[in-house]
Amino acid sequence: MKSEILRLLKENDTYISGQQLCEQFHVSRTAVWKVIEQLKREGYQIEAVRNKGYRLIDSPDVMSRAEIESLMKTAWAGKNVIYYDEIDSTNNRAKEYGEKGSPHGMLFVADKQVAGKGRRGRSWESPAGSSIYMTILLHPEILPTKAPQLTLVMAMAVADGIQKMTGLETKIKWPNDIVVNGKKICGILTEMSTEIDYINYVVIGVGVNVNQETFPAEIQSTATSLKIELGETVRRSGLIAAVMASFEQYYEVFMKTEDLSGLRDRYNSMLVNLDQEVKVLEPGHEYEAHALGINRTGELIVRTPDGEEKEIYAGEVSVRGVYGYV
Ligand code: ATP
Repeated sequence: MKSEILRLLKENDTYISGQQLCEQFHVSRTAVWKVIEQLKREGYQIEAVRNKGYRLIDSPDVMSRAEIESLMKTAWAGKNVIYYDEIDSTNNRAKEYGEKGSPHGMLFVADKQVAGKGRRGRSWESPAGSSIYMTILLHPEILPTKAPQLTLVMAMAVADGIQKMTGLETKIKWPNDIVVNGKKICGILTEMSTEIDYINYVVIGVGVNVNQETFPAEIQSTATSLKIELGETVRRSGLIAAVMASFEQYYEVFMKTEDLSGLRDRYNSMLVNLDQEVKVLEPGHEYEAHALGINRTGELIVRTPDGEEKEIYAGEVSVRGVYGYV
């Protein structure tokens, strides 16, 4: 009921009477009053006027299940939210629910992670109160070999969500980082459980630096946040809903062909590496090449200095700019 009351307050600029809320949710006036008081304690500014009702004046950067669900406009992606103030890693929790067979589209969100993860055992800096850590649980009916492409689908959705919510143009550093002005603003980590020819579940974790103002020394020169770039605070719950809306749309396009045929041009238009010299870091081997964009299965096509074209698979390699991170 809390999410629904919030949604109603958000959708109306005028007052909503207590009576209307009681009738709509079949509850007493006291029950409505209690929800309103709870919302106020969470930081919402709600005006209550006798004989008129309630009106929402301002929603601060609140992260809660009710806030996120009240903003969600999707059919299935992020429709059900499980929210944690603090957790080890949203990917770990999504995997536990995946094992239990929880439904496609369930979204796990945390205000803080104490063991945030990056690719290949790296860690993701996840302080409280400023960023988005979220993981979506999926049960795609595709071959396991195709699942890594969903990382690229999510990267597009994050870039789109940021653009829609804040107007900021970001780029994608192949395959899974979102960058602004050469610095990383978001990382994505996909994990899955499969049989040989069957996916039990896929989880896609997303960490977005939203309102962080400082970073630890090790990543200070390569990390940035929306607040640093825009000079203003961004509401995290709204951004989560915007990313989910884009993800749902892109996912449907992906599932039609079970590859990136329908998304490839758009992905390439967002690619920071497009037509750039990159350094390909393979295990035990490093070389420079010219990036030509992705193919329809998400590999990066590069031309080596001797003119050979190669398709590189994200699983084993990292790509850097020749002079730095991008
Ligand atoms: P690759 O290019 O192979 O993806 P990566 O360094 O981008 O390499 P990820 O797994 O995507 O690897 O992200 C983990 C890395 O990101 C960490 O090793 C650290 O350098 C950096 N990092 C950790 N936390 C943050 C953060 N909050 N914001 C930006 N960068 C971070």
